Amino acid sequence: MIVGIIGAGASGMAAALEAAQNENTQVILWERQARVGRKLQATGNGRCNLTNMNVRPRIEYPDAAPWAYHGTSPGFAKHALLHYGAENTRQWFLRLGLYTVAEESGRVYPFSDQANSVVDVLRFALEKPNIRLLCGREVKKVVKKDGIFAVTDNEETVTCDRVIVACGGIAGSKLGGTMSGYQILRSLGHRCTKLRPALVQLKSDWSGCQALKGVRTQCWATILRDGKPVAQSRGELQFTEYGISGPVIFEISRDVCQEKGEWVCRLDLLPGFHEEDLEYELFRRKNTNLSSDDLLTGILHNRLGRVISKAAGVKAGGFVRDIPDDVLREVCRLVMEFDIHLTEPMGMDSAQVTAGGILTDEFDPNTMESKLVPGLYACGEVLDIDGKCGGYNLQWAWSSGRLAGTCAGKETQ
Ligand SMILES: Cc1cc2nc3c(=O)[nH]c(=O)nc-3n(C[C@H](O)[C@H](O)[C@H](O)COP(=O)(O)OP(=O)(O)OC[C@H]3O[C@@H](n4cnc5c(N)ncnc54)[C@H](O)[C@@H]3O)c2cc1C
Repeated sequence: MIVGIIGAGASGMAAALEAAQNENTQVILWERQARVGRKLQATGNGRCNLTNMNVRPRIEYPDAAPWAYHGTSPGFAKHALLHYGAENTRQWFLRLGLYTVAEESGRVYPFSDQANSVVDVLRFALEKPNIRLLCGREVKKVVKKDGIFAVTDNEETVTCDRVIVACGGIAGSKLGGTMSGYQILRSLGHRCTKLRPALVQLKSDWSGCQALKGVRTQCWATILRDGKPVAQSRGELQFTEYGISGPVIFEISRDVCQEKGEWVCRLDLLPGFHEEDLEYELFRRKNTNLSSDDLLTGILHNRLGRVISKAAGVKAGGFVRDIPDDVLREVCRLVMEFDIHLTEPMGMDSAQVTAGGILTDEFDPNTMESKLVPGLYACGEVLDIDGKCGGYNLQWAWSSGRLAGTCAGKETQ
C-alpha cells in the first residue's frame, strides 16, 4: 500500500513515521521547500516549544487548565490529544533520541535548547527504506479516480492508495506558510472557514509605541471591545514600531479587530501591586529633590515611566515636588490602567498560527479521515483548530499527524 503525505512539517513528518511503522506500507513524503521542517526550525525563538504539560483536555481531567484550543468545533481535537498527549509526545521524542525538559510553566523544550535538534531527530528517523522523501517538490493537484489518488507535483504524477494533507496553514508565510493545503482539500470537496492571523502582534495608531520600541515589561493586558473586556492575560509585553507584541499579547490577540467596534488594550503595568501603595510612594517622592523625569524611576522601565508621566500631564524638566496632586494621582491611575488604541492585527506573515481552516466536521476525529473522500486524511494547522501560545500548536501537529499516519498506514481488513 502507498500512503502519500503532502508536507514535511511537524504534522507531516509525525504522520510519515507512524505510517511507516507498517513495513508493508510505502510512504511518499512531499516537501515543497528544499528541506524538511523549515518552520519548525524557527519555532519558540529558535528553541522550539514542542509541547506543554498542561495540554490535557478539561472534561476528562477536571483540574486541568481550561481547554486550550479554538475552532468551529474545538472538541474535534480531543481524541487525538488524549491519545497522544504531552507525556506521550516526550516519550515518542525520547525514542527518536531527543531529550526534553519541562519548565515550571509547563512549556517543554529540547534539552539542547535548539529547535534544530528537533528537526534533526525527525530527519534522521525518516531515513527508512519504506519512506521516500521528495524535497523541492510541490504538490499541485490531487485527483481521486477509481479508488486511487493521482498526486501531481512539479515533476511527475504518482498514484497513492491514501493521501494525508499536512500542508500547514498560511501563517508565517516567509517560513513556508501557504494556501496550498486549503486549495487541495477544497478541490476534493472540503469547505474552508475564513482564515485570519492568531498569536500575532497588534497594531496601534498611538505614537507612543514608536518611542517605546524595544521596551519589555510585565503586565496584565485586557482586550476591550467598546469598553467591554473580551480577553485577558498576564505576562511579558514588548513595544514595537507598530504596536504591541510579546507572549501576553499573542495570548489575547486571536479575535482582535475581527468585528467592528472600538478596540483597546488596557495595561496594568504593575500587576500584583495596589494603586494606594504606588500613590503613597509617589507622594513620598514629593519630599525629595527628584526631577520630574525620574518620577517613576525604580518602578517602571525609564522610557515607559516618562511616557506615562507625560500622558498624565507631568511637565518635563521640573521637580516632582512641583507636580500637582491631581496629576500625581493621574500617573498612578495610568500605571494601573493604561489604554492603547488598537487598529488591526499584523498580517499572516507575522502570525504564528492560522485561526480557521478546513472544517473539522467533515473529518472523523478518531482517525482524521475525510467523511467525504475515503482514503483522504488531514492533520495539523490546515484544519480549523488552533491552540493558545505555549507549545499547544505543535502538540496538535504531533497528535493529529501521528493519528492520521497510524490510521492511514494500516491495511484495510
Ligand atoms: C515563528 C513561529 C514560531 C512558532 N513557535 C511555536 C512554538 O514555539 N510552539 C508551538 O507549539 N507552535 C509554534 N508555532 C506554530 C507551529 O509552528 C505550527 O502550528 C506547526 O508547525 C504546524 O504544523 P503543520 O505540520 O500543520 O504545518 P507546517 O509545520 O507549517 O508544515 C507544513 C509543510 O508543508 C509544506 N507544504 C505546504 N504545501 C505543500 C505542497 N503543496 N507540496 C509539498 N509541500 C507542501 C510546507 O513547506 C511545510 O514544510 C510557531 C509558528 C511560527 C510561524
